[in-house]
Amino acid sequence: MKSQPSPQLRPAVESLPAYVAGRRATSALTEPLASNESHHLPVPAVLSAIARAAVRVNRYPDMGSLSLREAIATHLSVGLDQVAVGPGSVGVLAQLITAMCDPGDEVIFAWRSFEAYPILCQVAGATAVKVPLAADERHDLDAMAAAVTDRTKVILLCSPNNPTGTGMSDADVRYLLGKVPSSVLVVLDEAYREYAADSPDSLKLLADFPNLCLLRTFSKAYGLASLRVGYAVAAPAIAEGLRRTQIPFSVSGVAEAAAVAALGVTDDVQERATEVAAERDRVLAAARELGWNLPDSAANFIWIRLEDDLREALVDAFNEAEILVRGYAGDGVRITIASREANDRVLAVLAEQASLAG
Ligand SMILES: *Cc1c(COP(=O)(O)O)cnc(C)c1O
Repeated sequence: MKSQPSPQLRPAVESLPAYVAGRRATSALTEPLASNESHHLPVPAVLSAIARAAVRVNRYPDMGSLSLREAIATHLSVGLDQVAVGPGSVGVLAQLITAMCDPGDEVIFAWRSFEAYPILCQVAGATAVKVPLAADERHDLDAMAAAVTDRTKVILLCSPNNPTGTGMSDADVRYLLGKVPSSVLVVLDEAYREYAADSPDSLKLLADFPNLCLLRTFSKAYGLASLRVGYAVAAPAIAEGLRRTQIPFSVSGVAEAAAVAALGVTDDVQERATEVAAERDRVLAAARELGWNLPDSAANFIWIRLEDDLREALVDAFNEAEILVRGYAGDGVRITIASREANDRVLAVLAEQASLAG
């Protein structure tokens, strides 16, 4: 019998790298410090909102996620028409690229930055334009502005940057916005905003630059990673485009209820994030004391740039100590900050492996 042709994936999908999520914990002992989640359980008010919403899971949620959009608009003092939600801020970013880019249109971002960026571009048929980070691990804003062409639709700024932890100042964002055409949408991904001591006044920037779009998530400091909910704040026409490209009902009723409740306890969330930031600074200082060379971090993780053989040796040492960290081929190792005990275990490994520090 002649072999029959089989259905073929699009070439762009065929060549996609598999998304390498943080590795799964292999035992109860293993500290999962690989995906930058909060190590805190959700606060009681959020847990009870989840329980209340759980009894309604036989029904579809509100398609417009109106109560969540209203809560966000009120929380930030922006218009309801400026808010769009989605299944995690990665989901919102997928909506955004779909809404903004025809095949071959360009999306500029720093590299290394968030793993999802090139994948989302490729799936959408957009061209990813990666601009290398500067030597100090920060976004190279002049090079990013210089990379703009007449096909550029979107520039992604990640601040604090995943995985390097480096944060942009208000002046940095303003500088970039001042250099790029007003027709290019500049997206500020603020997934780790709550951990930064000095984050941009992004709502003021949004008021000054209608081509800015803020991307925020409930997955990190708000502690709801598994529920999948994030949002964008942008000019009404952009936000409308993001709502149109959202997969219907992709924000569940449980996620919506939890997010609304979480916005109600923002002070507790911020207090926890500030504690994590203090732990981060303690770990950074102790690691430097041991001879490791690390950039300052504005996020809930730290970054060690290492050549590949040293990186592999360090990741192996962490795995042996049952601590899951994230290694990046060609670049380095990212370690999530968690409880004080977990952080002390990280420091013990860094002490033991100090000979790898260059
Ligand atoms: C974790 C993370 C997000 C959040 O993703 P969700 O889809 O909201 O869980 C967004 N951007 C960056 C850079 C991240 O590291």
